[in-house]
Amino acid sequence: PVILGIESSCDETSASICVDGAILSNVIANQTIHEAYGGVVPELASRVHQQNIVPAVQQSILNAKINKNDIDAVAFTRGPGLLGSLLVGVSFAKAFALAKGIPLIEVNHMQAHVLAHFIDEPKPSFPFLCLTVSGGHTQIVLVKDHFDMEIIGQTTDDAAGEALDKTSKILGLPYPGGPLIDKNARLGDPDTYQFPEPQIPGLDFSFSGLKTAILYFIRDNVAANPNFIAENINDICASVEKRVVTILLNKLKKAALQYGIKNVALAGGVSANTGLRQGLKQLGEEMGWNTFIPQFQYCTDNAAMIAIAGYYKYLKSDFVGQDVAPLARMPF
Ligand code: ATP
Ligand code: MG
Ligand code: FE
Repeated sequence: PVILGIESSCDETSASICVDGAILSNVIANQTIHEAYGGVVPELASRVHQQNIVPAVQQSILNAKINKNDIDAVAFTRGPGLLGSLLVGVSFAKAFALAKGIPLIEVNHMQAHVLAHFIDEPKPSFPFLCLTVSGGHTQIVLVKDHFDMEIIGQTTDDAAGEALDKTSKILGLPYPGGPLIDKNARLGDPDTYQFPEPQIPGLDFSFSGLKTAILYFIRDNVAANPNFIAENINDICASVEKRVVTILLNKLKKAALQYGIKNVALAGGVSANTGLRQGLKQLGEEMGWNTFIPQFQYCTDNAAMIAIAGYYKYLKSDFVGQDVAPLARMPF
């Protein structure tokens, strides 16, 4: 089957074509308008989605070298995400499916981040653990089948990506700061500053204490030396990144031991982080795990992961009607 995938949950407008499980195109229109505001402005995001959605879909069809009449079903992100942003993708998907007389497939964005592992070889075998780390979520997911997933650990407050984005804001870097922290961290010494590791029971996470510790650390040091940030930016970024990575990997290790699972994957925007990717590889070698890390273009928000999820649902004829509506919160 030929599946058109649509993603519009946050600030990326994306369209992808998947043919028999192979991704032939993945067009991502990023929204730069939010940089000036230090975070995503929901009303602006949905307006830009409206401008980008038709060109993104047209480009995805062109890049895949297919005809729009070849499309057998439309898969779209139903949630979770910003309601106004989701509404643009959902409305487009419904209109397209209605006009072509083809089925609609709803996709959970967080499940799709996990299913990004079914785009390229080698694909993980079930069961596997997936650490899904993004701007809005931090989850350890026990993946029993394509759509049988259980969250066994998650953040009790901020997400890992949010902690990185807030840190970069404190450092005066533009939004989104995660990629800039990554870039600076490569030039710094991660052992320069010690930030606290929260003591949270079980497999859950907390990042708000770390964020506050960083805020006070910067405030006190800038009070003593107004050039503190500029003089030490690389070491600060490297130290912060190291702490975030150790918090994530320590819990992942605990989960893998507790569940006796050796297939371990990373997903979500923060899985683009160099330190986290290297850290998982190294830990995997120590532990004898099979580790799975997606290509960069499938880490941050993209429609290829929606299209591949749609492909597996198409095989089960798991369709939804025209009365479907987006969900800002959407459990598995
Ligand atoms: P969610 O998936 O929870 O709904 P989202 O869709 O906004 O949230 P993603 O696009 O999956 O999130 O991820 C965006 C996050 O990834 C941001 O917090 C961003 O800073 C972070 N990020 C992207 N690249 C990197 C990187 N190289 N290093 C660290 N963080 C990164
Ligand atoms: Mg984004
Ligand atoms: Fe996402």
